[in-house]
Amino acid sequence: MADQETTASKYAGVTQAQLDAHWMPYSGNRQFKQDPRLLVAAKDCFYTSADGRQIFDGLSGLWTTGAGHGRSEIANAVAAQIQQLDYSPGFQFGQPKSFILAERLSHWMPPGLNRIFFTGSGSEAADTSLKIARAYWRKLGKGTKTKFIGRAKGYHGVNFGGISVGGLPANRAWYGAGIESYHLASTLLPENRFTRGEPEQGAHLAEQLIDLIQLHDASNIAAVILEPMAGSGGVIPPPKGYLQRIAEICQAHDILLIFDEVITGFGRLGYKTGAEAYGVVPDMINVAKQITNGVIPMGAVACKQGIYDAFMEDAGPDYQLELPHGYTYSAHPVACAAALATLDILEQEQLIERAHGLIPEIEQRVHQLQGLPYVSDIRNSGTASAVSFEPAPGEPLLRPYQVAMAMWSKGFYVRYGGDTVAIAPPFIAELNQLDDIYSALGDCIAELT
Ligand code: PMP
Repeated sequence: MADQETTASKYAGVTQAQLDAHWMPYSGNRQFKQDPRLLVAAKDCFYTSADGRQIFDGLSGLWTTGAGHGRSEIANAVAAQIQQLDYSPGFQFGQPKSFILAERLSHWMPPGLNRIFFTGSGSEAADTSLKIARAYWRKLGKGTKTKFIGRAKGYHGVNFGGISVGGLPANRAWYGAGIESYHLASTLLPENRFTRGEPEQGAHLAEQLIDLIQLHDASNIAAVILEPMAGSGGVIPPPKGYLQRIAEICQAHDILLIFDEVITGFGRLGYKTGAEAYGVVPDMINVAKQITNGVIPMGAVACKQGIYDAFMEDAGPDYQLELPHGYTYSAHPVACAAALATLDILEQEQLIERAHGLIPEIEQRVHQLQGLPYVSDIRNSGTASAVSFEPAPGEPLLRPYQVAMAMWSKGFYVRYGGDTVAIAPPFIAELNQLDDIYSALGDCIAELT
């Protein structure tokens, strides 16, 4: 009977038929549905699981929720917006908050990236930026510039453009031909294992861009797209000087540079953007996730004004579309309200500065795990950190999975993928909470068999 009660509460009343009906994204559906991990509430840094436990949110949702959960300011802004203007068409008509938010975002971006195109997600931001790049060159009479350059282990969402420029083989293998893209090598080098922060070695890998340009010719290349810190590929910080060199080469060869800052935007690296963190200004920056603290889906592409201006010039009668592109949910009023409330919180509570202060604390705690069994590498970048594991024979994902499940049973949510477990706590996390999660991670690794 007690067992039945535990089981019933663990399922939160969800039946097997209901579990079966939902084809879960990026999940081992069969394993999950035998042993569901259901979250039913959240406040600050903690989820409540269906079986009534407090679970520390070790990845800020999916890199979304740095300001912590259950923020009443965002809830109130969203509720008020729904009551006032729940939806409005974004094509040919507008609503005030999209313009207010766009102007406000331009101050979060490096100087000059002050024209904002809204999307509904990070994947849509990635494909939007690629389309803008091709259309921009076409507009300038350089319509042969259509190829893209991404990077191995890069992640740019799951739409066809994003998986084409992305460099995670599993995300591409099932889906056939994408758009024509070539890839720089990952900067994850064996000689950089266990480096704290940005590695010294690896800036030379930027020279591969010269090789690709020689091979394909700059007249055929539209843009390079990179995450300043590769998040989903396993928290891979850029080697010192690497991004600067990539930017120089792009500029010298008339190739646009797009930073995908869906993870690194709004504080994850302790700065407003990765561009600011590394002192490199690209032509476009893609954001999503933390823009609304994860509460409402939203993405955006911030463009240099010159890109926008190129579309506005010689565009025919002024009622004509300058760019045939946009989504039903572009600049959704409720998402705009959530984003404005999120920016208020980040600014008023100085959470970017707070995140910056956590960097050495996280770095010191995660690197204490060096030397534990099967640990093959430890990396950190801003408030993101990761531990990689030697693969079990034939089963690369097994150890990260085992560690993540052991963490879950101890009351911590962490993300596993590839050979890696990632931790990126909310910016509001306290030092004792960092002590708890990294020491629990150490215990879980020590218990691996
Ligand atoms: N780009 C990057 C760098 C990301 O990390 C992600 C999401 N993890 C995406 C794009 C895709 O965002 P979304 O899942 O909102 O489509």
